[in-house]
Amino acid sequence: MPYIVAGPCSVESPEQIRDVALALAHMPQVAMVRCGVWKPRTRPGGFEGHGAKALQWIAQCRAAADAVRQQNGSPRLRFCCEVALPEHVEQALSYGIDAVWIGARTTASPFVVQELTEALRGTALPVMVKNAPNPDVRLWMGAIERCRQVGIGNIKAVHRGFDLYRNDGYRNNPLWEIPIELRRLMPDIPLLCDPSHIAGRKEPVPNLAQTALDLGFEGLMVEVHPCPEKALTDAGQQIRPDELDRMIQGLVLRSTDSRVADEELRLLREQIDYIDKDMLRLLAARLEVAKQIARIKQEGNLAVFQPKRWDSLLHQRMETARQLGVDPLFVKGLFEKIHAESVRIQEQSMARPDNNK
Ligand code: PEP
Ligand code: MN
Repeated sequence: MPYIVAGPCSVESPEQIRDVALALAHMPQVAMVRCGVWKPRTRPGGFEGHGAKALQWIAQCRAAADAVRQQNGSPRLRFCCEVALPEHVEQALSYGIDAVWIGARTTASPFVVQELTEALRGTALPVMVKNAPNPDVRLWMGAIERCRQVGIGNIKAVHRGFDLYRNDGYRNNPLWEIPIELRRLMPDIPLLCDPSHIAGRKEPVPNLAQTALDLGFEGLMVEVHPCPEKALTDAGQQIRPDELDRMIQGLVLRSTDSRVADEELRLLREQIDYIDKDMLRLLAARLEVAKQIARIKQEGNLAVFQPKRWDSLLHQRMETARQLGVDPLFVKGLFEKIHAESVRIQEQSMARPDNNK
């Protein structure tokens, strides 16, 4: 079973956190309640969280949650909150919070992460580290390494997507290759996916959660609110407890034991290796042709970038992709990359020595 953290974007009132904590206490798959207590807002003026008051409300609903768990014979429900300043750590500790997470905007700032982790030194609090909004795996790793340096033993990474200029219909682009790269570089760090902040809307949340599990993520962090329409923050992306329950029931767990499929997988991977080699050979040939085009453009004193040609090429490639059953938007992105490299190579081979003085 994946490790599931669920709860409201923000703690809004004693009743709201109690309602949601009790509903989650009835779901044995939920390990921890996420509670936003200090809210990092991109722009000033919005609801910034109830701070210590909210921590008190969390502490007050523990007994009722414990009673439900005890009755059902399932492990105690834990509570975690985001910390962004050293004093948040102190307050979270003083109210008995079980774990904390470092938010995306904080991860982007090594100075703040350093101060935070100093405050966490010696506390034994588990820490979840969200990726920074920009797609830089090293910033994510850096924050995890700073946690390690102060002796935090229980660290998890949370993938919440990346804020790019184009987000492919999501609030934050999932760019799955980045958490996969983190997995490769830090194989011992469990990965959770936050489909709520990736999606920015509730509809894609279950599919994103399933994709994360298919990719081998160990868990999920999902925003759950008793009445999402009335939420003070992130209203569009929060789901109700009953929707979370349905989502959990619908999740398909993949086996990590690959022995049965080993031989079949090996053969398919061999095919992939050959196809990739072919693609690279073709790519090299294409770039070679680009160099020849550069020569002709230079002789004819033509500009490297020909917008009309590029526009028609892109349309043709997307049409071909459609006919072949390949996502045209994926192919568009691919050709944008290939074209950029082709332009770079042409410019390089057209550059005269005196251009570089
Ligand atoms: C949050 O978890 O409510 C939050 C603010 O997320 P992020 O740091 O990923 O933007
Ligand atoms: Mn949120």
